[in-house]
Amino acid sequence: MSEKSIFSRIIDRELPADILFENESIIVIRNIAPHAPIHLLGITKQPYQSIHSLLQDPNGKDLLWQLMQCLSNLAIELGIAESGYKLTTNVGVDGGQSVSHLHVHLLGGMQLQE
Ligand code: AMP
Repeated sequence: MSEKSIFSRIIDRELPADILFENESIIVIRNIAPHAPIHLLGITKQPYQSIHSLLQDPNGKDLLWQLMQCLSNLAIELGIAESGYKLTTNVGVDGGQSVSHLHVHLLGGMQLQE
């Protein structure tokens, strides 16, 4: 069995995190090394390697919708929906993915570049 990801360890409360939202399928935490005033990570509890793996799974559609909806709601709650924000997800080595457990970055609170 492959080693548990950092995010699975956070989900299992083996590591601390600043948790903003959690339900049975997803969790949203603050990034430990933020690139913007608001930098959250929306994480699926099921440890898909990346969004690529989720999109190969017929059951992934609802989960992805739920994750994006949750981040969008948090953007409203945190007051950045009007000013704007960025949602990104990295895939694999060339995509700059450092944690092999699907997560979507929500960045906001400043003018972001491409
Ligand atoms: P990526 O490079 O797209 O895989 O993003 C992984 C992100 O996870 C990075 O932005 C890290 O700063 C963040 N990260 C790593 N460890 C932790 C942690 N323990 N708590 C919160 N964020 C973390």
